[in-house]
Amino acid sequence: MSRHTARILAIGDELLLGRTVDTNSAFLARWCADRGLTVTGVQILGDDEATLVAAIKAAASASDLVLVTGGLGPTEDDRTRHALAGAMGAKLEASARAWNQIERYWGKLRPGPVPVSNKRQALMPVGARVLKNDRGTAPGMLGQVQGAWIACMPGVPHEMFAMAERLSTQLPRLIPGLRVPEVGEVHFAGLGESSAQDQLGALLSPGPVQVGITAHELGHITVRVVGSATAVRKRCAAVRNILKPYLLPEAGLAPSLVAVLTKRGQTITSAESCTCGAIAGMLGAVPGCSAVLQEALVAYHNEVKAGYLGVSAVDLKRHGAVSEQVVAQMARGALARSGASLALATSGIAGPDGGTRAKPVGTVWMAAALGSRVVTRHSHIRGDRSRVQQRAAASALLLGWQLLTGAV
Ligand code: ATP
Ligand code: MG
Repeated sequence: MSRHTARILAIGDELLLGRTVDTNSAFLARWCADRGLTVTGVQILGDDEATLVAAIKAAASASDLVLVTGGLGPTEDDRTRHALAGAMGAKLEASARAWNQIERYWGKLRPGPVPVSNKRQALMPVGARVLKNDRGTAPGMLGQVQGAWIACMPGVPHEMFAMAERLSTQLPRLIPGLRVPEVGEVHFAGLGESSAQDQLGALLSPGPVQVGITAHELGHITVRVVGSATAVRKRCAAVRNILKPYLLPEAGLAPSLVAVLTKRGQTITSAESCTCGAIAGMLGAVPGCSAVLQEALVAYHNEVKAGYLGVSAVDLKRHGAVSEQVVAQMARGALARSGASLALATSGIAGPDGGTRAKPVGTVWMAAALGSRVVTRHSHIRGDRSRVQQRAAASALLLGWQLLTGAV
């Protein structure tokens, strides 16, 4: 099978300034991998036309498809359409088709004529095709440079997602012989990446399949297997067999909890101090979570911990809010208050201030309660406030998962 390659160019001065995080390239890299395209490079570039022309030409000479995102706005500093014209050696001309699309989109949005500055967005290099944008005014463009296809899409993520989705359907025609790879994924949690590597041993080596292992920031790990259907099925089964005690049914802790609780007809709640609703947020991000999540409580202040959750004022004073005693009572209280089947609780020091020698910033206590059982765990999480909160929430989900599945 021949190897088909792609390059990604993310364009915008704000990306180079670090004001915008380039998530579009990550989306597009995944888009390529899922469609059998090997990404050989990702580049972030400012809105400078000459630089863009050179980058498009260089990428075109080295790949089958170049995916460009950003720089299609209506303002003078958006140069992507000029750069594509430059790389194609074509003139820019007003495209009736593109203008039609802009007018139609605008008409659905508000009454009155399209602003004059949007006329720039109807400029297309002669010979390029319009890629329809039904979520914004910037039409995309598909052109050819040195035999490679160049797809220019907007920078606004949800506009780009929809356009890329539509581009997918054209791929077999644009790149004949492109084969969608068979991909298998095994997700697990509660076992570190290096221990997993040790246990899996030769199963991680390539052979009839390509194997990759990824530790996600939010606590779970994925083994990804690519190859022929039979080889993928065989390798995934072998991986699953070794990781049995740690397997997740879904790609993440929150989706796995929601799936299993739904299946069992059970519910979950959280009582959160330092995570301030992050656990509920992670559960709430899972489609269908309403079957298992009825309520959650942010119990930041000690009076709330005592008043709503029945945490003992004596224990709050004696052990402090960030303590095993308090977090266990928070979980028990949440269970009693809500009538849920499983309760998760957190209390910690998210920082940047408030740490002491005994309880430095990043100290977090977590608890999970199920029936009459309560389990606790503590952790020292490094990083800024947001990382401490996110990791603490993920660790609480893991503790809940382990309690629910009998691993603790
Ligand atoms: P248009 O989408 O109209 O073509 P543009 O491409 O010039 O405009 P900008 O105006 O630079 O895009 O950015 C529009 C929005 O898209 C901003 O909110 C920006 O944060 C976001 N955005 C742009 N590029 C990226 C990227 N690579 N990753 C994530 N978000 C991006
Ligand atoms: Mg821009």
